[in-house]
Amino acid sequence: MTRVFSGVKPTGHLTLGNYLGAMRQWATVDQHRAESLFCIVDLHALTVDHDPARVRRLSRQAATLLLAAGLDPELCTVFVQSHVDEHARLSYVLECVATDGEMRRMIQYKEKAARERARGGSVRLSLLTYPVLMAADILAYGADEVPVGDDQAQHVELTRDLATRFNQRYGYTFVVPRATLPTVGARVMNLQDPLSKMGKSDDSGPGIVYLLDEPDVVRKKVMRAVTDSGREVVYDREARPGLANLLEILASCTGGNPSELSGVYESYGALKKDTAEAVVEVLRPVQERHKELCADPGYVEGVLRDGAERARAMARPTVDAAYRAIGLLPAT
Ligand code: ATP
Ligand code: MG
Repeated sequence: MTRVFSGVKPTGHLTLGNYLGAMRQWATVDQHRAESLFCIVDLHALTVDHDPARVRRLSRQAATLLLAAGLDPELCTVFVQSHVDEHARLSYVLECVATDGEMRRMIQYKEKAARERARGGSVRLSLLTYPVLMAADILAYGADEVPVGDDQAQHVELTRDLATRFNQRYGYTFVVPRATLPTVGARVMNLQDPLSKMGKSDDSGPGIVYLLDEPDVVRKKVMRAVTDSGREVVYDREARPGLANLLEILASCTGGNPSELSGVYESYGALKKDTAEAVVEVLRPVQERHKELCADPGYVEGVLRDGAERARAMARPTVDAAYRAIGLLPAT
């Protein structure tokens, strides 16, 4: 059976981008057709300036939202990365096959490092080595597929390189995974800055729709989305990025096609209104279920406990095999 692994970082409140780009596919497709693991990758949240209490709170919230989005612990494994030691164990070994040049070429590293520096902060070494830990997350489980948004494609490519290199040098150990991207919604852009991805750790509040935003807040954010001064509704990512983003969000929420939808609208206002309502409708069931789950924190804790146990049992044999293959003496 195909195995799938993916995750979210507790670096901020989950966004519409996280949902349309990743979580929805996990819930509606992946968990039903593959042996799937979905992880709150909390170690990755420590790679930038962070507040410990907030990371803990966001981890719990992310777990609750994954379940609210429809992940079913009967069908998939939901767990927290730091509860399973194998991720960190394997990461070190993979650091011994990765190069520093490879790490420095990662787009996300360059962007996030520049942001930290612009804020007057220093860049944590873990930000540089982050993609190796992500490779460990995936390879520890022998995942065949990694359903992610477009921004993570480069990291999955690196994971493939590391797995292939390790296998060539030390003998076949890792499944070489591939990224699976959604056809629409793979890159939801910031509503105020349609040239940047909507990211949960960004500062620009009004440009980001959070999964827990009240309907009126969603409407306001979408209605105020930056477009351009043109009048005609056309789908052109290069020339009209703001408009294209709205058409893609609408298409992703309603199952339509952005260029066909562009023909339906005569004004920006009407497009924005329908997009806002479509987003509100997509978020409604997630928010309702989230509320129910918040009333039962013991349930979420139980899911995470079971999930970590299952994940550990799956990861240990592969990580042990990698330790043996690379030359470490097994403990007896
Ligand atoms: P951060 O700003 O901390 O990097 P993020 O919003 O990018 O947060 P991640 O935890 O890095 O979220 O990613 C979780 C999943 O959501 C990944 O599969 C990622 O590709 C996807 N994703 C994130 N942002 C978007 C987006 N704007 N559009 C589509 N998919 C996205
Ligand atoms: Mg990200």
